[in-house]
Amino acid sequence: MNKHYDRYLVKHYPILYQGRYKSPKHTCMCWGFECGDGWFNLINSLSFVLEMISRKYHIQIVATQIKEKYGTLRFYYDWYYWWGSHYYRIPDKFWWLCELRGKVFALFLSKSKTRKLSRLITVLIDNAERVSHHICEQCGAWGKTRGTGWLVTLCDKHYKEYQNEHRTISNTD
Ligand SMILES: [Zn+2]
Repeated sequence: MNKHYDRYLVKHYPILYQGRYKSPKHTCMCWGFECGDGWFNLINSLSFVLEMISRKYHIQIVATQIKEKYGTLRFYYDWYYWWGSHYYRIPDKFWWLCELRGKVFALFLSKSKTRKLSRLITVLIDNAERVSHHICEQCGAWGKTRGTGWLVTLCDKHYKEYQNEHRTISNTD
């Protein structure tokens, strides 16, 4: 993704993209948004909602990797809750364990609220990943996932270009 879009996302969603300039030891977000410009609007709208949820519920949803895989968007994240003086990570599958750790957490998020939030975040991200099946990764126009072996999601115009480039590369072998 181009620098302009990259900076826009990091600037507008500081909670979600707080790992953008951290070292590779800590997060894959240091590599930036590993997909084409065509998905900017999709990522932007998803980011807007996730940042809003973080602020509203006093949690932190933090992107750990965003990339294209098998022609579609992949959005990986961690989430944290505020406890005492620090944010603590909520484990993916065992988020309910957090409640056992301390009473303070229970004051912030009840078990049912945590479950609802967990589902909400999952649904939002799953939907965005599903929608990416229909958006050209290069230009953002209507597209579809296709290809033989290597899958790409492109509009007709960019798919033709992609095929031509692919042919040129094969011919020079
Ligand atoms: Zn296109």
